[in-house]
Amino acid sequence: MAECIFCQIVEGAIPAKKLYEDDHVIAFDDMNPQARVHVLVIPKRHLVSLDDTQDSDSVLLGKLMVVCAKIARERGIVDGGYRVVANTGREAGQSVFHLHLHVLGGRPFAWPPG
Ligand code: 5GP
Ligand code: ZN
Repeated sequence: MAECIFCQIVEGAIPAKKLYEDDHVIAFDDMNPQARVHVLVIPKRHLVSLDDTQDSDSVLLGKLMVVCAKIARERGIVDGGYRVVANTGREAGQSVFHLHLHVLGGRPFAWPPG
């Protein structure tokens, strides 16, 4: 079994509420939501973070963003506005080292982020 928590979710070894799945991407509810809607969109392939990507990942990265937009429409957070976040590295708050985009919406957000 993979050591990475998100690889285990991809394999189905850890349960998650999946909202979207295709050959390369899955999306599921965050287990500790920070807003009314808090979804994680991840590549099935293990990439550590954005810093682990290169030109050949461009299509995959585009797909991740398109899935974020799809989830936002499906969860009804477009009118109020939403945020897509990729915490990259420890000081940015990354705690799971498998690339993921947070889709957050359903409440106002401050800027700059804390
Ligand atoms: P990061 O801090 O790395 O940007 O975000 C990691 C996110 O993954 C956190 O919001 C955390 O709540 C979520 N998370 C960590 N482990 C699990 C898990 O096993 N299942 C789900 N659904 N979310 C998780
Ligand atoms: Zn992984």
